[in-house]
Amino acid sequence: MFGTGLLKGLGITLKHALDTFADDRKHVPSRYQDSVKGGNGRRVIEQPITQEGLLTIQYPEERRLLPERFRYIPMLIWDTQANEDKCTACGICAKVCPPQCIWIVRDMDANGKPVARPAEFYIDAAVCMSCSFCVEFCPFDAIKMNHDFELAVYDRYPQLVYDKAELTVPVEYYAALWPTQWAAEEEAKRQKEAEDKAKAEAKAKADAEKAAKAASAAAAKPAPAAVEAKASAPGEAVASNGGVVVASADGGATDEAAAKKARLDELKRKAAETAKKRKDGGA
Ligand code: SF4
Ligand code: SF4
Repeated sequence: MFGTGLLKGLGITLKHALDTFADDRKHVPSRYQDSVKGGNGRRVIEQPITQEGLLTIQYPEERRLLPERFRYIPMLIWDTQANEDKCTACGICAKVCPPQCIWIVRDMDANGKPVARPAEFYIDAAVCMSCSFCVEFCPFDAIKMNHDFELAVYDRYPQLVYDKAELTVPVEYYAALWPTQWAAEEEAKRQKEAEDKAKAEAKAKADAEKAAKAASAAAAKPAPAAVEAKASAPGEAVASNGGVVVASADGGATDEAAAKKARLDELKRKAAETAKKRKDGGA
């Protein structure tokens, strides 16, 4: 029938209007007032995923509160306690970046030897696809995703190619932007430190026990005089650990030398006899 589609559309609009009105009543006096968070001189409106009805945010005068896991362009973390970059210029993020929009130049010391920090670090924000691979693969928690999405500029190049200074933020900024993840990382760090400490203590204890055992074994070893006395007993020799073993190798060598000496004496005697006979016969 003519006009049915129009009536359906108007019905949907009316339903949304009524839903919004009903939802507004839950946030008396105003859902805006309830959800204003403030910040940067603008009202930041929270619009939770559970909210029903329509909500108009007067952007850019107002902003929507972004969820913690929102990600846009990466940022580099500056360790304020150590007063240095967390980045070691290992280059893993640049390798895994799918559109290859990260460039890193490793720093060098006065002798031209590479050092573990970036001298230059660039990200082409016009190419970055906010995949967060660089963050996932960084072994040093040195790169994280920023929430800042209002990056419009007149010229793409070089304004959207961010350098190290533009990318770097203090670690406190990251902690405020990603509070849940920050807390989880800190907890994991604490646990790892506790595990490492327990391992080191267990190793030190095992080493001390080993050393004590070695010392007591050395103390139990017989004095050299006793060793000689034992070794001189027939058919016996003293083992290196102080225990008595049946002589075999050394005793055998002594017997062999004696037998050899006897054979030589015999040969000498025979040679002397032969020489005497010749002399007597010749005489
Ligand atoms: S940000 Fe992380 S992965 Fe990338 S170079 Fe620095 S330490 Fe390596
Ligand atoms: S977020 Fe993805 S595209 Fe952007 S720099 Fe990181 S790895 Fe590359």
